[in-house]
Amino acid sequence: MPVSLLGAAEIRRLAAELDVTPTKKLGQNFVVDANTVRKIVQVAGVSASDRVVEIGPGLGSLTLAILETGASVVAVEIDHRLAERLPETAAAHEVPADRLTVIDDDALRVDTLPGEPTVLVANLPYNVSVPVLLHFLETFPYLRSGVVMVQAEVGERLAAPPGSKVYGAPSVKAAWYGSWRLAGTVSRQVFWPVPNVDSVLVAFDRDAEPRGTEEHRRRTFQIVDAAFQQRRKMLRQALSGVLGGTAADASARLEQAGVDPTLRGEQLTVDDYARIAAL
Ligand code: SAM
Repeated sequence: MPVSLLGAAEIRRLAAELDVTPTKKLGQNFVVDANTVRKIVQVAGVSASDRVVEIGPGLGSLTLAILETGASVVAVEIDHRLAERLPETAAAHEVPADRLTVIDDDALRVDTLPGEPTVLVANLPYNVSVPVLLHFLETFPYLRSGVVMVQAEVGERLAAPPGSKVYGAPSVKAAWYGSWRLAGTVSRQVFWPVPNVDSVLVAFDRDAEPRGTEEHRRRTFQIVDAAFQQRRKMLRQALSGVLGGTAADASARLEQAGVDPTLRGEQLTVDDYARIAAL
């Protein structure tokens, strides 16, 4: 029997049965539209041989759409009632038990994933989407690609090129791991409850080779944070604290890295930041 998807009525029935009232605190906006979850899975290019990790499966809408392809899923859910119920929902939709593993925990605290999944697919909780994404990319090097649904503002930031208005620390940190692109918009009407923000899909592909060691990454991120904390200032001022103490020290270091000290943080690529951090 093929895997079937969750419909709007079943989602509400499940929530009522579990006594779940969606909370803002956990970013609980459940997708009630089968076309949307199928589209996410299609954009992610998931196929039967894939091992996928999903963050925040909720009542299982997206989980079942991933499982429909024949792929296996590791799902990390912080809400105990939802985590506990998911295997039962999957079984009721004809999913063989060995294709779904549920981790009942905060995604920010998870540091191992069974089966080393290579694809990330998630409708992320909005309040923690960037920290969760960066944590997963840092902690699980076997994750090669993914598609996530996030608040439009966050998605635009993640995929922003240097020089654009929304380019910020999350854009540079995301680019440390690979390339990012916007992959579609999602109507508010597909969620229950309907959120008061727009959503987009963002896709990423990890670079073939890691950009640097863990130490190099930490130093780079420290410099990025300093540059964007004072984004209107020239780099020689914004980075004086992390590059030696004075603006003159910072200028010398920036010049050594081939970066004009009068630029602002929003004009630099991740390669520029990585070069400054390597000195
Ligand atoms: N995937 C489901 C869907 O598309 O209908 C639910 C998506 S809902 C936007 C976000 C889900 O993430 C909720 O189920 C919420 O309980 C869960 N969540 C929130 N914070 C989390 C965290 N730190 N770790 C794991 N799951 C989390």
